[in-house]
Amino acid sequence: MTPADASGTSVAIDTANELNLELVRFLYADHGGVTRGKAAALRFLPERIASGIGHTTAMMAITMLETLAPVDGMSPVGEVRIKPDPETLVALPYAPGAGAMLADLVRPDGQPWEACSRTFLKQAIAELASEGFTMEAAFEPEFTLGRREPDPSGGPDRLVPTDDSLCYSATGFHQAHDFVMELVGALNAQGLKVEHYYPELGHGQQEISIRHAPALQAADHHVLYRETVRGVAFRRGLWASLAPKPIPDQAGNGTHLHASLTELNADGSPGAPAFTDPSDRYGLSKTGYHFIGGLLKHIGGLVALSCGSVNSYRRLQPQFWSSAYTVYGMDNREAAVRICSPLRGDPASTVNLEFKPSDSSANPYLALGAFIYAGLDGIRQRIDPGEAVNVDPATMTEEERQTAGARRLPLSLAEALDELALDDLLISKLGPMRSTAYLAVKRAEAAAFAEHDTAWECFQHFLRF
Ligand code: GLU
Ligand code: MG
Repeated sequence: MTPADASGTSVAIDTANELNLELVRFLYADHGGVTRGKAAALRFLPERIASGIGHTTAMMAITMLETLAPVDGMSPVGEVRIKPDPETLVALPYAPGAGAMLADLVRPDGQPWEACSRTFLKQAIAELASEGFTMEAAFEPEFTLGRREPDPSGGPDRLVPTDDSLCYSATGFHQAHDFVMELVGALNAQGLKVEHYYPELGHGQQEISIRHAPALQAADHHVLYRETVRGVAFRRGLWASLAPKPIPDQAGNGTHLHASLTELNADGSPGAPAFTDPSDRYGLSKTGYHFIGGLLKHIGGLVALSCGSVNSYRRLQPQFWSSAYTVYGMDNREAAVRICSPLRGDPASTVNLEFKPSDSSANPYLALGAFIYAGLDGIRQRIDPGEAVNVDPATMTEEERQTAGARRLPLSLAEALDELALDDLLISKLGPMRSTAYLAVKRAEAAAFAEHDTAWECFQHFLRF
């Protein structure tokens, strides 16, 4: 343990004692996209931070339907440890007496396990640093606030939204107010800086955005966010879902990914913003264009990780502002990659890219790690992304779309997985164990949902996400 690690650990232990956190949850995200974990009792926290809590390797081969995909090295025989990062300790405002830390999955000897997704993101960040960049990122989640109710006709339970207010309407603010105030307080108390709130387009749909943070912290924040939204709702007898399309005929819940790069100084401190060039017509630097080139080159496989569930592909429809085509554009909400116009007063550091085919059924560590590797490939190969598309691609003719290189994003999880399997870069960065397990888990989910109808699919997704 380095001196910095040791001091982080002792701060976490002192804080847990001061706050009398009887149980501290060690949380991780699995390949099904579900947050899971085990909790340590306060008395044993120092030991468990050092050793981690024992866990079966099988849990990274489990699907969101709780079936076990056949993956070598992930079975009831074999052990890893859920090893928390003490820097991430928070008290959980929606679970009095409990705290949480985000965790890696490590081998019993403490070495990183090849299937750990948080480690994957750390590796991507390190590779980005080796090229002289660091990333600030923010997940921008939408969710549906409702009640879980039986279907009068005997089908699976439905998510019945709490309101039918209009997009950004004052009525929407009124109707969700008490819940939202509690949620905002709970997010801020955990160190997530709430930036905006609005009632959005779909019935019961809410969006609360969180200030950007260094990439690993942004992914950690997103795990805490998802649990906070649901935790606060459950305690009020409500049901909140971040599933991509919990209600088939309403707007989907995206979790757009915003990111910008900063140059690293020789001493490792952050230097100048790397995505800005005031002389460019969209204010974007060459590095920014190359990053987009990499995203578009790898988009099929990338989407398999950023839109990680069967339900994700019900959301990615033209003219739902979710993106459906492989294009980028300036402030284009139908493009897969949007160059966000800078804010007046701080143009240099507010240029950022928004990746729209991204939702909260993804494992955020895998999604953000793959996003970094794809963009980095664009920087290294100096990939030209072509011309920006500044119209809704659905309104173009087929011929215009072909000229612009606008292809449909994968239409199903199965299609996206096939693209991922053919993406040599992403597969090699994931490594054999992670990629095999991810493809096996997700293919098992695709096959299982193919046997069922839309109502069951939506039910299973709003239950878990
Ligand atoms: N709900 C849209 C989606 O599925 C996003 C709407 C917006 O631009 O905020 O991504
Ligand atoms: Mg939105």
